[in-house]
Amino acid sequence: MATNPLSNTQGTGKVRQHPTQNEALLFEISAPGKHAYMLPPLDVPSVDAAALLGDTYRMQSAALPELSEVEIVRHFTRLSTWNYAIDLGMYPLGSCTMKYNPRVNEVVARTEGLAEAHPYRPESLAQGALEVIDLLQRCLLEITGMDAITLQPAAGAHGELTGIMLARAWHESRGNARKKVIIPDSAHGTNPATAATCGYTVENLKSNAEGGIDLEALARQVDEQTAALMLTNPSTLGVFESQVGKIAEILHAKGALFYMDGANMNALVGKTRPGDFGVDVMHLNLHKTFSTPHGGGGPGSGPVACKKFLEPFLPIPVLVQDKNGAKRWQYDRPQSIGRVRSFYGNAGVFFRALAYILANGPDGLRQTTEDAVLNANYLRKKLEDLYELPYKTASMHEAVFSDKRQAARGVKTGDIAKRLIDYGFHPYTVSFPLIVHGAMMIEPTESEPLEELDAFVAAMRAIAREVEETPELVKTAPHSTRISRLDEVQAARKPILRWKP
Ligand SMILES: *Cc1c(COP(=O)(O)O)cnc(C)c1O
Repeated sequence: MATNPLSNTQGTGKVRQHPTQNEALLFEISAPGKHAYMLPPLDVPSVDAAALLGDTYRMQSAALPELSEVEIVRHFTRLSTWNYAIDLGMYPLGSCTMKYNPRVNEVVARTEGLAEAHPYRPESLAQGALEVIDLLQRCLLEITGMDAITLQPAAGAHGELTGIMLARAWHESRGNARKKVIIPDSAHGTNPATAATCGYTVENLKSNAEGGIDLEALARQVDEQTAALMLTNPSTLGVFESQVGKIAEILHAKGALFYMDGANMNALVGKTRPGDFGVDVMHLNLHKTFSTPHGGGGPGSGPVACKKFLEPFLPIPVLVQDKNGAKRWQYDRPQSIGRVRSFYGNAGVFFRALAYILANGPDGLRQTTEDAVLNANYLRKKLEDLYELPYKTASMHEAVFSDKRQAARGVKTGDIAKRLIDYGFHPYTVSFPLIVHGAMMIEPTESEPLEELDAFVAAMRAIAREVEETPELVKTAPHSTRISRLDEVQAARKPILRWKP
């Protein structure tokens, strides 16, 4: 089996097989009296914890495993080597833009004045950090072509919610919140969830044969009760919506707003700006497009940028500059939708994203976009003879195949994805977008060198051959991991989430 030499070491035998190297060891090697670092005895008057905590005061020690420090360190270090990461190899999880996180970002984010800045620090003593936040805002406005921005939302979905709340507040200020939000059938599941959470009815818009918006269908659907259209551009099919200007016209003619889900901006940065093609409000995913670490529960950042007329509704506080040049947070904004998060957002993410933007510069960002699109199209070209391409429209940052040919032999997209693990790659995105039956959504990003792309192509081609010759091998994959196929139904219905003594 051709394993990818640049990827992880799973199954190569390079990792020493320790006798205790199985899942539950931390608990099994526990022994009474073992302990790690101990705090020195208390040398200040102690408070009466029982009085302070009332009912929540624990009278007996928790039933936790007892271990020495080195055992704990080894346990977690070992677990970390069983994981997959962008630092081990290509992570082609479509729609997630799993790009490399440059180490210079980390250096910048650890700058003392930024990393140690407390959110309660007086503004007069935080001018440096505020200046940096302001610079990021200006960079993102330049990139998107929008007029105003908030960095508060903590993720893309949170940005969507904020953006549609802005749209709703604007409609309400004109006397009618309106009733519905139109969402194409290729959208990310968070889009309809957002619209529904904001009190809107979700109306589905069917994509045309090219995977784009059917303008006539849209024109029929938009009316005086339409609050907004939420459009992902490029779409989750990796297709750029070339009629985007006309879409804006159709919406604006009926007083509806144009929301753009900007999670796929990695295909547009430095090339075209949503603000220039009629978008009124959008979100960005700093943890996708702007290279901040992604996954593991965050923290993320989903800034929302909007046109001037929506600015009064932005969450408070808004960063403003006084006449003397001093920056401060402005809270007195009567039309604001209020706070959407504590403090100002995930500041550590801002600094990483800004470092990435400044390190690349305008030309570097444009090159990044071109490389991301080039890499996706390279994979598409190298695989399209073996895997079905449901939409032939040109690809932007990702290519979406389907398992149609393999499914004829009983092998599904999920099987192929799991087999990729044996070849040392993280799986691509499975079964999304929903409009492609058996979808295989592949997004390499610009980070991947040609050698890594070729290793991925070789793996995908080898798997296609296995589907013909030894389909059982693929259907029972992965074979190189410590745990093979899970019973997914049991795992979802009856998950065992904690150890019990
Ligand atoms: C990732 C993504 C989102 C949601 O972003 P989160 O940061 O995961 O909340 C929304 N829309 C699209 C198209 C995405 O790819």
